[in-house]
Amino acid sequence: LQVNKLTIIEAYSVLEADGIIAARQGSGYFVSSVTSSCSNLKSTFSPVQNVMILESLGNGSYYDTYTPLIHAQTQPGIINFGYGYPPPPKDINQIARRALKQEDTDILFRYDLPQGQVNLCKQIAQMLVQQGLEVYPENLIITNGSQQGLSLAMNYYVQPGDWVIVESPTYYGAISILENLGARIIGIPMTAEGINLNLLEQYLRSHSPKLIYTITTFHNPTGLTTTQVHRQQLLALAEKYECPILEDNAYEGLHFEPVPAPIKALDKHDLVTYLGTFSKTLLPGLRVGYMVVTGKHYPAIIERKFLHDFHTSSISQAIVSEYLASGHYRRHLNRLRTDNLQSRNAMLQALERYFPEEARWTVPQGGLFLWVQLPDDIPIQTLRNEALAENVFIACSSAFFPDKQGYPAMRLTFRLSIEEIETGVEIVGRLLKKHIRR
Ligand code: PMP
Repeated sequence: LQVNKLTIIEAYSVLEADGIIAARQGSGYFVSSVTSSCSNLKSTFSPVQNVMILESLGNGSYYDTYTPLIHAQTQPGIINFGYGYPPPPKDINQIARRALKQEDTDILFRYDLPQGQVNLCKQIAQMLVQQGLEVYPENLIITNGSQQGLSLAMNYYVQPGDWVIVESPTYYGAISILENLGARIIGIPMTAEGINLNLLEQYLRSHSPKLIYTITTFHNPTGLTTTQVHRQQLLALAEKYECPILEDNAYEGLHFEPVPAPIKALDKHDLVTYLGTFSKTLLPGLRVGYMVVTGKHYPAIIERKFLHDFHTSSISQAIVSEYLASGHYRRHLNRLRTDNLQSRNAMLQALERYFPEEARWTVPQGGLFLWVQLPDDIPIQTLRNEALAENVFIACSSAFFPDKQGYPAMRLTFRLSIEEIETGVEIVGRLLKKHIRR
């Protein structure tokens, strides 16, 4: 029996895309063993109970947190645990050229509609239907990254002085928008299953907040995923107290195992606005994200999008659309997930080896980060500076809490090489042990 060589090559690429085999440079293909090698490493996340309230503009801006992260990524030799983004797909230049070679490039160079290109909206709607959402292209708005989606939705739902509920800790880019809107922020602590629902109900009852902001899957910064049951209960509470939910699903595509459907998939009353992005799975520099907005909220939010910037870059949208049409996206995602799982496991093993036993960390089932909780007396800023002096950058916990303090912890991205993880975790572990009082 003769098998065509091309058939074999294709079979290998399908197995690789599905994560069953992985290529090792210079050695050939090997059956992936990454899923089983860390099964004994359990999350030691320990929920903290205090609610955090911020009633007025805090000190320190998002920009002050964001700028050092951006500088760190270009500093030669630095091990940057502070920031995670995907490596560009190998074929992206070719795809970008193809996107610009379309017959009717004229439409890319003119002004367009605020909701974004019809084709891209259709492609994203199809993707979301596969995740269990009932979405039509007419429910989509292509945004300039999901950061713009956050801003548009928060501007729409929140007036100065309004109470807003966020998870504590949460994404600092969201805290900052709320602060600048003059919102009063209630940070409800995270449990291993998602936001603490008892406390949530207490504050829904007592403060009548105007919005609940939640990062349901591979939460930034903790890496936790809200369970299916918790999602249902969260939505039930939002319905009971008629409080809209802003569901930020920035890390959705980066799962190692299947994840529960978004809360938006359960929403029957247009209570949930949903945000997604291509920043974590494709290229953050393209600045392409999207919102799912249903019912009466759509016209108000599209109006805001128009006022903000007319529309998202047509060229960026065309590149994303061409990439999705090329059929390479699935393979690219599978490769990312396999690589990320390998480096997550390497990080867990390095933490076990080098961090003091007092440290606690999460074991994310996807995404880009894990969260390390430290004893209360660890001077986290000092530790950060000491690590930086040894060319290691860590994201400090304070930025992720509404009160800009919280408890000592750090967010570490595992999207680095195995060597960087090993060296960086060893350095931070050594510095940390110096601060532990026994
Ligand atoms: N939401 C979350 C939870 C994030 O972590 C980020 C970026 N780090 C964003 C939104 C914004 O990302 P982008 O605008 O690149 O889509």
